Amino acid sequence: MADLTKEQASQELDKIRPQLNSWRDAYYTKDAPVVEDNVYDKLYNRLLEIEQMYPELVTPDSPSQQVGDVTLPDFNKVTHDIPMLSMGDVFSEEELAEFNDRIEKNVGHEVDYNVELKIDGLSLSLIYENGILVQGSTRGNGTIGENVTENVKTIKDIPQKLSRPLSIEVRGECFMSKKEFLRLNQERENEGQQVFANPRNAAAGSLRQLDPKVTASRKLDTFMYTIVTFDGMNVTTQHQALETLQELGFNVNPTAQVTTGLKGVQNFIEHYGEVRDDLDYGIDGVVLKVDDLALQQQLGNTVKVPRWEIAYKFPPEQSETVVRDITWTI
Ligand code: NAD
Repeated sequence: MADLTKEQASQELDKIRPQLNSWRDAYYTKDAPVVEDNVYDKLYNRLLEIEQMYPELVTPDSPSQQVGDVTLPDFNKVTHDIPMLSMGDVFSEEELAEFNDRIEKNVGHEVDYNVELKIDGLSLSLIYENGILVQGSTRGNGTIGENVTENVKTIKDIPQKLSRPLSIEVRGECFMSKKEFLRLNQERENEGQQVFANPRNAAAGSLRQLDPKVTASRKLDTFMYTIVTFDGMNVTTQHQALETLQELGFNVNPTAQVTTGLKGVQNFIEHYGEVRDDLDYGIDGVVLKVDDLALQQQLGNTVKVPRWEIAYKFPPEQSETVVRDITWTI
């Protein structure tokens, strides 16, 4: 790497970017990935490595500058006034410690983190006016998402009416349980249809349906974790936000914990790494969020990811996936 010249870097980027874009198209637009996530992640990290070495080679259309998904043309579009971002990720304890060091250096002291499971589904935004659900949308490219309001209304754990008449936007993850995924794939196999590669793609394919009846026929679930706009609520931390979401009637994952610095994070990671197969929903890691919302604001975002949160990604699962594992060689 050290002796990679700028010309070699540029040539390598010319090969990596179209490959990543083609995998992204299969994953985000068609909900049918052609490689395992770890294969994608490896090449994506190589892209980041080269771009960090030669920042002048970063282009606005590089996958490193784009928030995932492409919107399907058949859906009405919505604009996210506050963009729905992606998330930075790390794959080792050392990288996690580097993230924590960056935060502490930036704010000048140790911070509390709210540690949550990283649910393997797709992001969902819900808007309520005076407590009534008025819009549901996907993340799309972060700024423009797909309007899936009618489909969202078929998801049983999403309240149509909140316990208080608030006007708020909340966000979270829409996912399909492992049980429902197996049922759906069995049904599709019996009908001679292509099966979904994994529960994440099954959830995305089921939510992004033009006919809400199709969405209704597949059981989707949600865990909500973000309050985007607060309507005079007394919420100053992420853990209070989770409590409030629950009070309002949302399904909130019960495993979240607050920890000071990295204390306890490793135990959380180890524990859920061990029991993840026993959960009825897919997780692909653990998310650390600076608990104090004012500090989150102070730390801000890059063009693609918040600086106040990071995902620790688990090693890939040996699952029943049908995805072809293509080995990428540069
Ligand atoms: P991401 O899925 O890695 O992380 C961001 C998302 O995590 C958020 O948008 C949110 O939806 C979700 N999330 C789940 N639990 C959360 C929680 N508790 N708090 C906050 N957010 C939570 O990022 P991404 O940009 O959506 O996708 C990138 C990933 O997708 C890659 O790491 C790769 O593994 C996968 N991918 C795979 C392929 C492929 O071909 N296999 C292609 C493109 C992307």
